Amino acid sequence: MDSVSTPRFTLSPNPSPVSPERRAEVLANPGFGKIFTDHMALIRYTEGQGWHDPVIRAYAPITLDPAAAVLHYAQEIFEGMKAYRTAQGGISLFRPDANARRFRKSAERMAMAQLPEDLFVEAVCQLVKMDRDWVPARPDESLYIRPFMIASEAFLGVKPASEYLFMVIASPVGAYFGEQAVSVWVSEYCRAAPGGTGEAKCGGNYAASLMAQKEAKGHGCAQVLFLDAVERRWIEEMGGMNVFFVLDDGSLVTPPLTGTILRGITRDSILRIARDGGLTVREEPYAIDQMYADAASGRLREVFACGTAAVISPIGRFRGKQGEVVIGDGISIGPVTEKLRTNLIAIQRGNAPDPYGWVHKVI
Ligand SMILES: *Cc1c(COP(=O)(O)O)cnc(C)c1O
Repeated sequence: MDSVSTPRFTLSPNPSPVSPERRAEVLANPGFGKIFTDHMALIRYTEGQGWHDPVIRAYAPITLDPAAAVLHYAQEIFEGMKAYRTAQGGISLFRPDANARRFRKSAERMAMAQLPEDLFVEAVCQLVKMDRDWVPARPDESLYIRPFMIASEAFLGVKPASEYLFMVIASPVGAYFGEQAVSVWVSEYCRAAPGGTGEAKCGGNYAASLMAQKEAKGHGCAQVLFLDAVERRWIEEMGGMNVFFVLDDGSLVTPPLTGTILRGITRDSILRIARDGGLTVREEPYAIDQMYADAASGRLREVFACGTAAVISPIGRFRGKQGEVVIGDGISIGPVTEKLRTNLIAIQRGNAPDPYGWVHKVI
């Protein structure tokens, strides 16, 4: 992983890590994203100097100038990925190069400094190595990794910042939703418009989606489905996951990447696995009224959401201003969804061959 251009990480172990007893307690019931490991990675960027002083050090609060640009103009991007304990006892990442590439693209869209991809992967690997004892071992569990970058320059003028802070934190996690199908609210709020930031993984997109999320909860739904901002007709994605539809001929449909949808790595992996498994997959626009009609006629058999956190999560019901529609029995995972889920997880966890070179061994 070392290359001439990669600055050396300073490894500065936490002088008072969590006790093994307390860690065992956390790992027995990790929840999602509430508890963090002993360390974090940190790299600074300064215009004229580039990326400097990469370090792995104790997880701790950071200090920011109150005028830091991120606090005012939201120059912030992030990634989400996981480290898995494999059947062989090692630890692996899944397609970290794809996260590194997407992170660079997000930075480009937000006019932020672009972190070299090898430095991104190196930071993640160094942190995972340092916190290896925090990677849970049970099926459905993993170490969730959150790389992110903020504009740290103290300046209230509106312009791309000249200083950035890249960090990686990690949190042991269990299953995100559980196995049961979730209910989804079809929102009238929009997440992303053509020419906007929908394809960038930035915090601002999430801030804009929270009102819709709140509304969904009020209607008894766990997730939100967003439609396109122009015609309010074409299905785009969920607040933080892409979406797939399984039709009665066994084929899969998912909305195409037109710039307003996040390029999910799980989405891309499913497309590949499905196609190589002989399924017909179409990346094409799917209208919400068509979905309601197909659900009513029985043509639509299964629907699932996908993303790193939840992997593949069946959707059992949609609610919205057009009423409610139930998919399958509304509760269980469908056979096509289940097969894709099983196949993907087997590759991620090293329980199946990896013909695509997706698995990146850390230890
Ligand atoms: C992160 C994210 C996804 C899923 O991407 P993965 O790479 O599969 O984790 C989908 N939609 C949005 C809006 C996201 O932020």
